[in-house]
Amino acid sequence: MKLTFHGTLSSTPYGNPRHSRQSMLEVAYGGRRLLIDCGSNWLGRLPFIDPVALLLTHAHDDHVGGLVRGAPCPVYAHAATWEKICRFPLLWRVLVTPQQPFFIAGIRLQAFVLQHSPRAPAVGYRIQAGRSTVFYCPDVARIPDRDRVLRGVELFIADGASVHRSLLRFEDGMLYGHASLFTQLQWCAEQRVPCMLASHCGEEIIENESRIVHQLQHRARKLRVKADIAHDGMTLKLP
Ligand SMILES: [Zn+2]
Ligand SMILES: [Zn+2]
Repeated sequence: MKLTFHGTLSSTPYGNPRHSRQSMLEVAYGGRRLLIDCGSNWLGRLPFIDPVALLLTHAHDDHVGGLVRGAPCPVYAHAATWEKICRFPLLWRVLVTPQQPFFIAGIRLQAFVLQHSPRAPAVGYRIQAGRSTVFYCPDVARIPDRDRVLRGVELFIADGASVHRSLLRFEDGMLYGHASLFTQLQWCAEQRVPCMLASHCGEEIIENESRIVHQLQHRARKLRVKADIAHDGMTLKLP
């Protein structure tokens, strides 16, 4: 399985050359590739590759805005996202049922509901191909049933919107917003996930990435987790 981080920026209006495009991950396996998420600053830039499918995590603009004029392939999303983007001119719509595994191009996928936004309910995807298992969750406040969701995961692709600053809030007794990267690092340590790579980068990373990488890796070493920050165009080969 080969991962390409085409976009690693969150909804913040301030990017930089390392993080200029909003979230989009390519997963390639056996010569075919799928994309996950397509934010508004991708509008008019598709198709730049020939994906077999495009998966969506949730209906926030920095994840779906690039599809307002359509998509070149089938689009997969769960019911709450389809409800929000029902007016998009998407011809091939596939409904994803949380927790139910499905296959695209030999890649096993499974969506899990996350706590992130009451108005744009989100899922994260467990992605399995070859001998590797990855969990992709670009926007997350809390992962319900985290032990089961992250069991056997080798790489956690994390939400980099918050590093130190709290972007969490309680609404109706539920936690929403973005967990900090240090909290997500702790999740990895507790569930024995050996590697964490932050994407969906927010202002803190944009402003001072090298200092944050240093702090993150210092903490990660103590927790026996490898941690880093992805950038636009980064590729990663997994066995
Ligand atoms: Zn986002
Ligand atoms: Zn979001």
